Amino acid sequence: MKIIASEDIEQLPGRRLGPDDRFCFRCHAGLSCFNRCCRNLNLFLYPYDALRLKNRLGISSDRFIEEYVDVVLRTGQFFPEVLLRMAANDERTCPFLTGEGCSVYVDRPDTCRTFPVEQGALFEGNTGKSTPVFFYRPPDFCLGQHETRAWTIPTWTRDQKAEYYHRMTQRWSDIRRMLTSNPWGREGPEGPRAKMTFMAVYNIDRFREFVFQSSFLKRYRIKSALKKKLRRDDDALLLFGFDWIKLVLWQVSSKKIRLRE
Ligand code: SF4
Ligand code: SF4
Repeated sequence: MKIIASEDIEQLPGRRLGPDDRFCFRCHAGLSCFNRCCRNLNLFLYPYDALRLKNRLGISSDRFIEEYVDVVLRTGQFFPEVLLRMAANDERTCPFLTGEGCSVYVDRPDTCRTFPVEQGALFEGNTGKSTPVFFYRPPDFCLGQHETRAWTIPTWTRDQKAEYYHRMTQRWSDIRRMLTSNPWGREGPEGPRAKMTFMAVYNIDRFREFVFQSSFLKRYRIKSALKKKLRRDDDALLLFGFDWIKLVLWQVSSKKIRLRE
C-alpha cells in the first residue's frame, strides 16, 4: 500500500485501473513461473497482515516480530516499515513457500492477495480523505498476465477474498499517512510514544496486556461492551488501537475512547 499524493499519481509505474477496467490474469501450477513471485521480495506487512499471520502460526505477536519480520526505520521517516523476512537461502524464498505453494494461503498478506495488482491510498490536498487506487503491474517473468481470464478490481478482490483486508489496510493508511510528518516532537521516532504506537498496531498481544494490565482503563473511558469485546477480539482491538493512536498523537476523538476527566 503506497501512500500517494495527488500530484504524484501520474508518475507511478503500471496501469491504473478504475472499477470497470479489465485486466487479464490467471495463476496456476502449470506455469513455468509457478512460485517464482514468492522469493526475494520486499514484502511489506500491514498491521492486519501481522495479526492474521501470527494467529495462523499460533504464536505470540512478540515471537512473530522476532522471528518473521524486519523492522526498518529509513532515514528521514518517522515510523518504521515492517517487512516479511525472507529465508536465509540463496533464493531468499518467502518463509511460507513450500513446493505446493503458499502454506499460509488463507491468511496470506494483502499484498499477496492483490498481486499482480498493487494497491495504494491516494490523498487529495489537505482534506485527509483517502481513496483506494489500483495499478496493474505484473513483473515480466509473471506468465499469468498472458492468460485470457479477465477481471476487474471488484471481481478480483472478491475472488481473492481481499475485501476485508483492503478495508483494514485502508484504515491503517490513514494513520500511516499522518505518521509521515513528525508526530513525536523532540522524542524522535525511537522515543516512548513511537514505541507505544508500534506496539498498538503490530504487537497486538502486548497491546492487550497494556490495555488490561496497566493503568490504561483508569485513564480512558471505554464502554463496557467494547471492553469485553477487546479482551477476545483481535480485529476489534486493532481498530481500537488505531483510534487510541489518533487520540494520543493528534487529539482526534472517537466514540470508542475518551480521556477520563
Ligand atoms: S509469477 Fe505470476 S503466474 Fe507465476 S506463479 Fe507468480 S503470480 Fe502466478
Ligand atoms: S505469503 Fe504466500 S503468497 Fe505471499 S509471498 Fe509468501 S508464499 Fe507467496
